[in-house]
Amino acid sequence: MGPHDELAFTAHWAAHDLGEVVVSAADLRERIAELGQAISRDYDGHPPLLVCVLKGAINFMSDLMRAIELPVEVEFMAVSSYGAATKTSGVVRIVKDLDVDIADRDVLIVEDVVDSGLTLNYLRQYLGARSPASLEVCALLLKEGEQRVEQDLKYVGFSIGPAFVVGYGLDVSERYRNLDGIYTYVGEA
Ligand code: 5GP
Repeated sequence: MGPHDELAFTAHWAAHDLGEVVVSAADLRERIAELGQAISRDYDGHPPLLVCVLKGAINFMSDLMRAIELPVEVEFMAVSSYGAATKTSGVVRIVKDLDVDIADRDVLIVEDVVDSGLTLNYLRQYLGARSPASLEVCALLLKEGEQRVEQDLKYVGFSIGPAFVVGYGLDVSERYRNLDGIYTYVGEA
């Protein structure tokens, strides 16, 4: 089954607004299994607290946590941009904070896509101030050449081009999060 067969099969209701398959469902499964193995190995004996950044990382978090063979705990945060100014300042609003104390915990932030890196940079400083034992990042997608803030990402699923993508948690106006794969978006902005 080729990528376009998969598109036709999984996303007939959305196909009008979708371009290329950027990461297929099969490739997601394979890579997330590898990430799960790497995390299980690296955190053996000190299982991490996984912090999912809502909403874009929900699908990734759900699959990744099941690929980790350690007694991990999961928590959720929600952040939102302060509108247009955020693009340049990197200031994000914490819509939902963590419910637990992360002091002395091994925290692994689970993020959907790192573009400019500003959101993650803010989150790192915000959580880093609470004295975790360690603070690392597992990002599903890294947009190559887009980073304005240097990022030290411990785990990256896929490096992709600059095109805007949807599916597997990623949205346009809250839609397309339920697609199995990741696609370029060619519909109206
Ligand atoms: P950054 O602060 O790194 O520029 O942006 C990161 C956030 O912007 C991501 O967590 C995600 O919410 C959003 N984002 C960046 N690129 C894309 C994309 O291609 N598609 C979607 N749906 N969201 C994106």
